[in-house]
Amino acid sequence: MSDTTTDTIFGKIIRGEIPSEFIYEDEHCIAIHDVNPQAAVHALVIPKKAIARLVDASADDQVLLGHLMLAVGKVAEQLGVADAFRLVVNNGADAGQTVFHLHLHIIAGQVFSEQKL
Ligand code: AMP
Repeated sequence: MSDTTTDTIFGKIIRGEIPSEFIYEDEHCIAIHDVNPQAAVHALVIPKKAIARLVDASADDQVLLGHLMLAVGKVAEQLGVADAFRLVVNNGADAGQTVFHLHLHIIAGQVFSEQKL
């Protein structure tokens, strides 16, 4: 299910078909603010390649997956939360995934130390 033609709202955002403010963009990914934030800071890092779920990534995506992690660091720095954030990937509907285009949630702006999940 790693399919560059898979279409979701994130595909439309990446292609500019739905207006959205990119808070970060490079050759391989974008970042946007989550429309329904779960914390004071809630951003999404989204690869331009449409991979439906994390488990649908293949060995060919190894460099891309590392790139996304480095982009998370850059976006967290940019948002001023590099010292404390959670990084979440929901994989599959039963795990809460609602948009089937891989994305990484950067969640910050609250103290998580007492809350393990
Ligand atoms: P998930 O449930 O892990 O698939 O996360 C999907 C996330 O995308 C949710 O947190 C939504 O609030 C967010 N979302 C859906 N549509 C948009 C949009 N147009 N712009 C920004 N975030 C969105």
